[in-house]
Amino acid sequence: MDVDEKRGIITAYNERFLFIPTKLIHAIEDRMSESFGAATATSFVYEIGKEGGLQYIRIAERAGFKFRNFQDLKAAAERLGTLAGWGKVDVVEFNQQKKMVRLRWTDGVSVRSKKGKIPVCHFGRGILTGAIQSILGTDCESLEVLCQGKGDPYCEAIVGVPDEILRLANSHSN
Ligand SMILES: [Zn+2]
Repeated sequence: MDVDEKRGIITAYNERFLFIPTKLIHAIEDRMSESFGAATATSFVYEIGKEGGLQYIRIAERAGFKFRNFQDLKAAAERLGTLAGWGKVDVVEFNQQKKMVRLRWTDGVSVRSKKGKIPVCHFGRGILTGAIQSILGTDCESLEVLCQGKGDPYCEAIVGVPDEILRLANSHSN
């Protein structure tokens, strides 16, 4: 990471980054919820995150990260998640055949209390979904099945092809 104090810019992996307080992310989440309602806000933040995830993988590939197998993915998630301050990210399952990835993380930026009723990591989940989508080369959606924001010990999301995630979401809500 390079801080150019004269120009006021931060660069890493040949890309300009912005060092922003997590409270700014919270303000975006809150403002969107107030203006558009929780469901729309969730979808907005998730889709914006997805775009970010695509960008992260583009940067990672340029920086020499490989995504050929489970070990590659695990190493990249651990390193990139931590470096960018998103929290500790771990890949627990990578099924290339089924195009399904199970990820766990702790200390996600959107977790503000542990007493919620539903998962809260829409932004982070979006980033991970966009990243996996880029790696698998196919459209992906995701479902956060565990979340520290509702008192679970860690957050866990399943990322996969839209049909499969929809099926999973339906079976979870029943
Ligand atoms: Zn969560």
